[in-house]
Amino acid sequence: MKVARFHTPGDIRVEEAPEPVAGPGEITIRVRNCSTCGTDAKIYRHGHHHIRPPRVMGHEIAGEVVEGTGPWAPGDRVQVIAAIPCGECRECRRGRMTVCPNQESMGYHYDGGFAEYMAVPAKVLAVDGVNRIPDGVGFAEASVAEPLACVLNGQELARVGEGDDVVVMGSGPIGCLHVRLARSRGAARVVLVDINAGRLEMAAGLVHPDAAVHGEDVVEQVLKLTEGRGADVVITAAASGAAQEQALRMAARQGRISFFGGLPKDDPIIRCDSNLVHYRELTIVGANGSSPAHNARALGLIADGSVPVTDLITHRLPLEEVLEGIAVVGRGEAIKVTIEP
Ligand SMILES: [Zn+2]
Ligand SMILES: [Zn+2]
Repeated sequence: MKVARFHTPGDIRVEEAPEPVAGPGEITIRVRNCSTCGTDAKIYRHGHHHIRPPRVMGHEIAGEVVEGTGPWAPGDRVQVIAAIPCGECRECRRGRMTVCPNQESMGYHYDGGFAEYMAVPAKVLAVDGVNRIPDGVGFAEASVAEPLACVLNGQELARVGEGDDVVVMGSGPIGCLHVRLARSRGAARVVLVDINAGRLEMAAGLVHPDAAVHGEDVVEQVLKLTEGRGADVVITAAASGAAQEQALRMAARQGRISFFGGLPKDDPIIRCDSNLVHYRELTIVGANGSSPAHNARALGLIADGSVPVTDLITHRLPLEEVLEGIAVVGRGEAIKVTIEP
Protein backbone atom coordinates (compact mmCIF):
# COMPACT_ATOMS: atom_id res chain seq x y z
CA MET A 1 0.00 0.00 0.00
CA LYS A 2 0.98 3.64 -0.33
CA VAL A 3 1.75 5.78 2.73
CA ALA A 4 3.13 9.27 3.36
CA ARG A 5 5.98 8.96 5.83
CA PHE A 6 7.90 11.61 7.71
CA HIS A 7 11.66 10.95 7.66
CA THR A 8 13.31 14.21 8.72
CA PRO A 9 12.19 17.87 8.67
CA GLY A 10 11.57 18.79 5.04
CA ASP A 11 11.47 15.12 4.00
CA ILE A 12 8.04 13.47 3.75
CA ARG A 13 7.91 10.65 1.20
CA VAL A 14 4.99 8.90 -0.45
CA GLU A 15 6.26 5.33 -0.53
CA GLU A 16 5.28 1.67 -0.39
CA ALA A 17 4.73 -0.07 2.94
CA PRO A 18 3.26 -3.43 3.96
CA GLU A 19 -0.45 -3.40 4.81
CA PRO A 20 -1.00 -3.45 8.58
CA VAL A 21 -2.41 -6.55 10.27
CA ALA A 22 -4.65 -6.19 13.34
CA GLY A 23 -2.90 -7.30 16.52
CA PRO A 24 -4.75 -8.38 19.69
CA GLY A 25 -7.46 -5.85 20.57
CA GLU A 26 -6.86 -3.86 17.39
CA ILE A 27 -8.87 -3.12 14.28
CA THR A 28 -7.61 -2.11 10.85
CA ILE A 29 -9.34 0.41 8.63
CA ARG A 30 -9.30 1.44 4.99
CA VAL A 31 -8.64 5.17 5.38
CA ARG A 32 -11.10 7.17 3.30
CA ASN A 33 -10.23 10.67 4.48
CA CYS A 34 -7.43 12.08 6.58
CA SER A 35 -7.51 15.85 6.79
CA THR A 36 -4.49 18.09 7.22
CA CYS A 37 -3.97 21.04 9.51
CA GLY A 38 -1.34 23.53 10.61
CA THR A 39 0.20 20.85 12.85
CA ASP A 40 1.16 18.81 9.77
CA ALA A 41 2.81 21.87 8.21
CA LYS A 42 4.69 22.45 11.48
CA ILE A 43 5.86 18.80 11.64
CA TYR A 44 6.98 18.96 8.01
CA ARG A 45 9.13 22.04 8.72
CA HIS A 46 10.47 21.28 12.20
CA GLY A 47 9.71 17.65 13.05
CA HIS A 48 8.34 16.88 16.52
CA HIS A 49 10.03 15.46 19.61
CA HIS A 50 7.37 12.75 19.93
CA ILE A 51 7.84 11.45 16.39
CA ARG A 52 10.37 8.67 15.92
CA PRO A 53 10.87 8.43 12.14
CA PRO A 54 10.04 7.00 9.75
CA ARG A 55 6.44 7.62 10.77
CA VAL A 56 3.21 7.67 8.75
CA MET A 57 1.65 11.06 9.51
CA GLY A 58 -2.00 12.10 9.65
CA HIS A 59 -4.27 12.45 12.68
CA GLU A 60 -7.73 13.58 11.42
CA ILE A 61 -8.90 10.15 10.45
CA ALA A 62 -12.06 8.54 9.02
CA GLY A 63 -12.45 5.23 7.22
CA GLU A 64 -14.03 1.80 6.94
CA VAL A 65 -13.29 -1.16 9.18
CA VAL A 66 -11.42 -3.98 7.43
CA GLU A 67 -10.62 -6.30 10.35
CA GLY A 68 -12.95 -5.87 13.31
CA THR A 69 -12.98 -6.81 16.96
CA GLY A 70 -15.59 -6.40 19.72
CA PRO A 71 -18.47 -4.29 18.36
CA TRP A 72 -16.63 -3.45 15.13
CA ALA A 73 -17.31 -5.39 11.94
CA PRO A 74 -15.89 -5.09 8.43
CA GLY A 75 -17.55 -2.24 6.52
CA ASP A 76 -18.41 -0.16 9.60
CA ARG A 77 -17.78 3.55 8.96
CA VAL A 78 -15.66 5.04 11.74
CA GLN A 79 -13.90 8.18 12.95
CA VAL A 80 -10.76 7.80 15.08
CA ILE A 81 -9.43 10.08 17.84
CA ALA A 82 -5.99 11.71 17.50
CA ALA A 83 -4.91 12.23 21.13
CA ILE A 84 -4.89 9.00 23.13
CA PRO A 85 -5.22 9.35 26.92
CA CYS A 86 -4.01 6.45 29.06
CA GLY A 87 -7.38 6.11 30.82
CA GLU A 88 -5.71 5.06 34.07
CA CYS A 89 -3.83 8.00 35.58
CA ARG A 90 -5.25 10.33 38.19
CA GLU A 91 -6.31 12.96 35.60
CA CYS A 92 -7.99 10.38 33.37
CA ARG A 93 -9.85 8.80 36.28
CA ARG A 94 -11.19 12.26 37.19
CA GLY A 95 -12.42 12.76 33.62
CA ARG A 96 -9.67 15.20 32.66
CA MET A 97 -8.41 13.21 29.71
CA THR A 98 -7.19 16.21 27.71
CA VAL A 99 -4.42 16.76 30.25
CA CYS A 100 -3.39 13.13 30.66
CA PRO A 101 0.39 13.27 31.19
CA ASN A 102 0.77 9.93 29.41
CA GLN A 103 -1.06 11.09 26.30
CA GLU A 104 0.08 9.62 22.98
CA SER A 105 -1.03 10.58 19.48
CA MET A 106 -1.91 9.01 16.16
CA GLY A 107 0.64 10.03 13.55
CA TYR A 108 3.23 10.63 16.29
CA HIS A 109 3.58 7.53 18.47
CA TYR A 110 1.59 5.35 16.06
CA ASP A 111 1.33 5.32 12.28
CA GLY A 112 -1.43 7.69 11.21
CA GLY A 113 -3.94 8.16 8.44
CA PHE A 114 -1.93 9.34 5.44
CA ALA A 115 -2.08 5.75 4.22
CA GLU A 116 -4.45 3.44 2.38
CA TYR A 117 -4.77 1.23 5.47
CA MET A 118 -4.13 1.87 9.14
CA ALA A 119 -4.14 -0.16 12.35
CA VAL A 120 -6.08 1.38 15.23
CA PRO A 121 -4.07 0.67 18.41
CA ALA A 122 -5.74 -1.28 21.22
CA LYS A 123 -5.13 1.75 23.46
CA VAL A 124 -7.50 3.78 21.25
CA LEU A 125 -10.24 1.18 21.49
CA ALA A 126 -9.72 0.89 25.26
CA VAL A 127 -10.69 4.56 25.77
CA ASP A 128 -13.66 4.49 23.33
CA GLY A 129 -11.62 6.34 20.72
CA VAL A 130 -13.48 4.92 17.71
CA ASN A 131 -16.82 6.49 16.78
CA ARG A 132 -19.45 5.20 14.40
CA ILE A 133 -20.08 7.78 11.66
CA PRO A 134 -23.80 8.60 11.54
CA ASP A 135 -25.69 7.98 8.29
CA GLY A 136 -25.65 11.06 6.11
CA VAL A 137 -22.21 12.19 7.27
CA GLY A 138 -19.44 11.70 4.70
CA PHE A 139 -15.95 10.50 5.54
CA ALA A 140 -14.43 13.92 4.78
CA GLU A 141 -16.86 15.64 7.15
CA ALA A 142 -16.28 12.97 9.80
CA SER A 143 -12.53 13.57 9.64
CA VAL A 144 -13.18 17.17 10.71
CA ALA A 145 -14.71 15.90 13.98
CA GLU A 146 -11.19 15.76 15.47
CA PRO A 147 -10.34 19.47 15.09
CA LEU A 148 -13.94 20.34 16.02
CA ALA A 149 -13.52 18.26 19.19
CA CYS A 150 -10.52 20.42 20.14
CA VAL A 151 -12.56 23.56 19.46
CA LEU A 152 -15.39 22.17 21.60
CA ASN A 153 -12.98 21.55 24.48
CA GLY A 154 -11.70 25.13 24.14
CA GLN A 155 -15.20 26.67 24.21
CA GLU A 156 -16.28 24.54 27.16
CA LEU A 157 -13.26 25.71 29.14
CA ALA A 158 -13.96 29.33 28.10
CA ARG A 159 -17.66 28.80 28.92
CA VAL A 160 -18.97 30.18 25.62
CA GLY A 161 -22.72 30.49 25.96
CA GLU A 162 -25.98 32.28 25.39
CA GLY A 163 -25.67 36.03 24.77
CA ASP A 164 -21.87 36.20 24.72
CA ASP A 165 -20.00 38.52 22.41
CA VAL A 166 -17.18 36.36 21.11
CA VAL A 167 -14.00 37.41 19.29
CA VAL A 168 -12.06 34.78 17.37
CA MET A 169 -8.51 35.79 16.45
CA GLY A 170 -7.20 33.79 13.51
CA SER A 171 -9.34 32.89 10.50
CA GLY A 172 -7.86 29.52 9.57
CA PRO A 173 -9.89 26.30 9.74
CA ILE A 174 -9.81 26.32 13.54
CA GLY A 175 -10.98 29.95 13.64
CA CYS A 176 -13.83 29.09 11.25
CA LEU A 177 -14.90 26.16 13.45
CA HIS A 178 -14.80 28.45 16.50
CA VAL A 179 -17.13 30.94 14.78
CA ARG A 180 -19.62 28.22 13.86
CA LEU A 181 -19.52 26.51 17.24
CA ALA A 182 -19.92 29.82 19.11
CA ARG A 183 -23.05 30.49 17.04
CA SER A 184 -24.47 27.07 17.84
CA ARG A 185 -23.82 27.71 21.55
CA GLY A 186 -25.93 30.87 21.41
CA ALA A 187 -23.33 33.63 21.08
CA ALA A 188 -24.89 37.05 20.52
CA ARG A 189 -22.24 38.46 18.19
CA VAL A 190 -19.12 36.88 16.74
CA VAL A 191 -16.20 38.94 15.46
CA LEU A 192 -13.46 37.35 13.35
CA VAL A 193 -9.97 38.89 13.40
CA ASP A 194 -6.91 38.15 11.26
CA ILE A 195 -3.77 40.00 10.22
CA ASN A 196 -4.03 38.46 6.75
CA ALA A 197 -6.79 40.42 4.96
CA GLY A 198 -7.06 37.92 2.09
CA ARG A 199 -7.52 34.91 4.33
CA LEU A 200 -9.95 36.85 6.52
CA GLU A 201 -12.07 37.69 3.51
CA MET A 202 -12.14 34.06 2.34
CA ALA A 203 -13.08 32.82 5.82
CA ALA A 204 -15.66 35.54 6.45
CA GLY A 205 -17.31 34.68 3.10
CA LEU A 206 -17.89 31.17 4.44
CA VAL A 207 -18.74 31.59 8.12
CA HIS A 208 -20.31 35.08 8.05
CA PRO A 209 -19.16 36.65 11.33
CA ASP A 210 -21.01 39.79 12.42
CA ALA A 211 -17.81 41.70 11.73
CA ALA A 212 -14.45 40.87 10.16
CA VAL A 213 -11.61 42.96 11.54
CA HIS A 214 -7.96 43.43 10.62
CA GLY A 215 -5.30 46.10 11.00
CA GLU A 216 -3.10 47.61 13.70
CA ASP A 217 -5.98 48.76 15.87
CA VAL A 218 -8.02 45.57 16.32
CA VAL A 219 -8.42 46.20 20.07
CA GLU A 220 -9.97 49.60 19.44
CA GLN A 221 -12.17 48.17 16.67
CA VAL A 222 -13.49 45.43 18.95
CA LEU A 223 -14.16 47.93 21.75
CA LYS A 224 -16.06 50.10 19.29
CA LEU A 225 -18.10 47.14 18.02
CA THR A 226 -19.05 46.23 21.60
CA GLU A 227 -20.05 49.69 22.78
CA GLY A 228 -16.82 49.98 24.76
CA ARG A 229 -17.47 46.83 26.88
CA GLY A 230 -15.12 44.47 25.10
CA ALA A 231 -15.87 40.84 24.33
CA ASP A 232 -17.17 38.28 26.82
CA VAL A 233 -14.92 35.66 25.27
CA VAL A 234 -11.77 36.14 23.21
CA ILE A 235 -10.25 33.06 21.57
CA THR A 236 -6.79 33.19 20.03
CA ALA A 237 -6.65 30.62 17.24
CA ALA A 238 -3.22 31.72 16.06
CA ALA A 239 0.34 31.04 17.20
CA SER A 240 0.82 34.68 18.11
CA GLY A 241 1.89 36.22 21.40
CA ALA A 242 0.85 39.62 20.07
CA ALA A 243 -2.69 38.28 19.53
CA GLN A 244 -2.73 36.93 23.10
CA GLU A 245 -1.70 40.34 24.46
CA GLN A 246 -4.40 42.03 22.37
CA ALA A 247 -6.93 39.46 23.59
CA LEU A 248 -6.33 40.50 27.20
CA ARG A 249 -6.98 44.14 26.27
CA MET A 250 -10.23 43.50 24.41
CA ALA A 251 -11.92 41.32 27.06
CA ALA A 252 -15.01 42.62 28.86
CA ARG A 253 -15.41 42.57 32.64
CA GLN A 254 -15.52 38.92 33.78
CA GLY A 255 -14.36 38.04 30.28
CA ARG A 256 -12.78 34.71 29.45
CA ILE A 257 -9.68 34.51 27.28
CA SER A 258 -8.81 31.23 25.61
CA PHE A 259 -5.18 30.81 24.58
CA PHE A 260 -6.38 28.14 22.18
CA GLY A 261 -3.37 28.13 19.87
CA GLY A 262 0.05 27.45 21.40
CA LEU A 263 3.06 29.71 20.87
CA PRO A 264 6.38 28.76 19.27
CA LYS A 265 8.53 26.77 21.75
CA ASP A 266 11.38 29.28 21.51
CA ASP A 267 9.18 32.33 22.12
CA PRO A 268 6.36 31.50 24.57
CA ILE A 269 6.54 34.56 26.89
CA ILE A 270 3.98 37.39 26.70
CA ARG A 271 3.36 40.57 28.68
CA CYS A 272 0.18 40.46 30.74
CA ASP A 273 -1.24 43.44 32.66
CA SER A 274 -2.04 41.59 35.85
CA ASN A 275 -4.23 44.43 37.07
CA LEU A 276 -6.52 43.94 34.07
CA VAL A 277 -6.97 40.34 35.17
CA HIS A 278 -7.44 41.38 38.81
CA TYR A 279 -9.87 44.29 38.55
CA ARG A 280 -11.83 42.98 35.56
CA GLU A 281 -12.07 39.47 37.01
CA LEU A 282 -10.75 37.93 33.83
CA THR A 283 -10.29 34.21 33.36
CA ILE A 284 -7.47 32.96 31.15
CA VAL A 285 -7.77 29.35 30.01
CA GLY A 286 -5.69 27.07 27.83
CA ALA A 287 -6.81 24.17 25.65
CA ASN A 288 -4.92 20.98 24.94
CA GLY A 289 -6.54 18.86 22.28
CA SER A 290 -9.67 16.87 23.04
CA SER A 291 -10.94 13.79 24.83
CA PRO A 292 -12.59 10.77 23.21
CA ALA A 293 -15.95 12.09 24.50
CA HIS A 294 -15.35 15.44 22.76
CA ASN A 295 -14.78 13.57 19.49
CA ALA A 296 -18.08 11.72 19.83
CA ARG A 297 -19.96 14.93 20.59
CA ALA A 298 -18.24 16.81 17.75
CA LEU A 299 -19.37 14.11 15.33
CA GLY A 300 -22.89 14.61 16.70
CA LEU A 301 -22.70 18.38 16.13
CA ILE A 302 -21.71 17.76 12.51
CA ALA A 303 -24.42 15.12 12.03
CA ASP A 304 -27.29 17.20 13.42
CA GLY A 305 -26.30 20.30 11.44
CA SER A 306 -25.30 22.40 14.48
CA VAL A 307 -21.83 22.90 13.00
CA PRO A 308 -21.77 22.42 9.22
CA VAL A 309 -18.31 21.62 7.87
CA THR A 310 -18.81 20.54 4.24
CA ASP A 311 -18.22 24.02 2.82
CA LEU A 312 -15.06 24.44 4.95
CA ILE A 313 -13.42 21.57 3.04
CA THR A 314 -11.91 23.57 0.19
CA HIS A 315 -9.41 21.01 -1.15
CA ARG A 316 -9.69 17.23 -1.68
CA LEU A 317 -6.42 15.65 -2.81
CA PRO A 318 -5.14 12.09 -3.42
CA LEU A 319 -2.35 10.73 -1.18
CA GLU A 320 0.26 11.36 -3.88
CA GLU A 321 -0.40 15.10 -3.48
CA VAL A 322 -0.09 15.21 0.29
CA LEU A 323 2.96 17.51 0.09
CA GLU A 324 1.01 19.95 -2.06
CA GLY A 325 -1.81 19.76 0.49
CA ILE A 326 0.54 20.56 3.37
CA ALA A 327 2.07 23.40 1.33
CA VAL A 328 -1.37 24.89 0.64
CA VAL A 329 -2.12 24.75 4.39
CA GLY A 330 1.26 26.34 5.20
CA ARG A 331 0.59 29.20 2.79
CA GLY A 332 -2.82 29.86 4.34
CA GLU A 333 -4.58 29.50 0.98
CA ALA A 334 -7.09 26.88 2.04
CA ILE A 335 -9.60 26.44 4.80
CA LYS A 336 -9.61 22.67 5.15
CA VAL A 337 -7.52 20.33 3.02
CA THR A 338 -8.44 16.64 3.13
CA ILE A 339 -6.43 13.75 1.74
CA GLU A 340 -8.30 10.83 0.15
CA PRO A 341 -5.85 7.90 0.16
ZN1 LIG B 1 -5.03 18.61 13.20
ZN1 LIG C 1 -4.08 9.40 31.76
